Amino acid sequence: MADDSFLTLKPGREKSLLRRHPWVFSGAVSRVAGDPQPGQTVAILSDKQQFLARGAYSPISQIRARVWTFDPQEEVEADFFRRRIQAAILKRVPLGLEKMTDAVRLIHGESDGLPGLIVDRYGSCLVAQFLTTGTEHWRETIIDALAVQTGYKDIYERSDADVRELEGLHPRFGRLRGDPQEGVEISEFGLHFSVNIAGGHKTGFYLDQRHNRQRVRALAEGRDVLDCFCYTGGFSLTALVGGAKSVLSVDSSEDALTLLHENVLLNALPLEKSTAMAGDVFQILRRFRDEARSFDMIILDPPKFAPTAAQAEKAARGYKDINLLAFKLLRPGGILVTFSCSGGVDADLFQKIVAGAALDAGAEASILERLSQDGDHPISLNFPEGSYLKGLICLKQ
Ligand code: SAH
Repeated sequence: MADDSFLTLKPGREKSLLRRHPWVFSGAVSRVAGDPQPGQTVAILSDKQQFLARGAYSPISQIRARVWTFDPQEEVEADFFRRRIQAAILKRVPLGLEKMTDAVRLIHGESDGLPGLIVDRYGSCLVAQFLTTGTEHWRETIIDALAVQTGYKDIYERSDADVRELEGLHPRFGRLRGDPQEGVEISEFGLHFSVNIAGGHKTGFYLDQRHNRQRVRALAEGRDVLDCFCYTGGFSLTALVGGAKSVLSVDSSEDALTLLHENVLLNALPLEKSTAMAGDVFQILRRFRDEARSFDMIILDPPKFAPTAAQAEKAARGYKDINLLAFKLLRPGGILVTFSCSGGVDADLFQKIVAGAALDAGAEASILERLSQDGDHPISLNFPEGSYLKGLICLKQ
């Protein structure tokens, strides 16, 4: 294959590509040849001119190229995207998700060999995010391939995530194909949820917490539950259906709480057991501490405090703060279900933060279970960064 444009790496900087890690950082590049445009496919060569990979060029991002293929014979064109999408669909078959839900992540970026592409299925509607110059460059090809390989006709775009800015891309959203509705109803383990595709967070729903919600369902019986950062009620509803005595749901987004209320009604769950509170979790936890309130189960599922390792220290303070307060508010025998979705905070660090929080709260606690992201958000062994969600179920003595 003739490659018009190519990047040559500095000596020794080919190591991560030889381990099939899909990112080339700007500092590793010694030479850019052929004047590639943003998103254009370039060959990536070692300093000895050995072919390493073919990837998408991104002149602004610190990640200067993202690998499409390590195979020198593989061309990046329409058929390539059809093959990758098909492989991603097949990868999820063993999970048997269709017996549990009609909402599934079909494509999870780097972990599916398609850096920067996220595709979620809500019923018969696909919601796509094109987060990098490479996916933007190939967007029409990718949309066609998605329609063909999945058979779904309605496709909506939610490329309004902040990370696009790092690639020099503007937000884009709206209808791509067919007639997607702005709101859809999905079902998950028998529960129904209204999902706001057009205006919700990310693509509308937190599919990565699917099985973790079921853990809450199993543990909630007879408990007074506090669901912090509840969004549209994923954990609140599973706690209610699991037989919680009461559920107090807190989020700063009034829109999310409106949808939570709708979701409680949609499932005919006991409204009198469900209370929603709009506000800042940091302040509300402090107020509850001052009022000496207590709970039997507390869920902490905050937004990303640290997208990268550089912000880890500030994020650590945030996690420590809420976990410390939660340990104080828990009754003896109470359960803390606590998460971090920060890429910059790994599982070890998160556990240390939670341990420090328990110590400072004067609480004796143990880990009952470690939690991760659901299987349709796979973690490629060559791309450990794909492991972003970590959770602990802790019991306070
Ligand atoms: N647990 C949810 C997902 C949580 S996403 C689920 O399973 O569906 C994080 C949520 O935190 C968002 O809904 C966001 O509105 C909310 N949020 C962010 N910062 C907040 C703050 N300081 N106080 C309260 N809510 C906050």
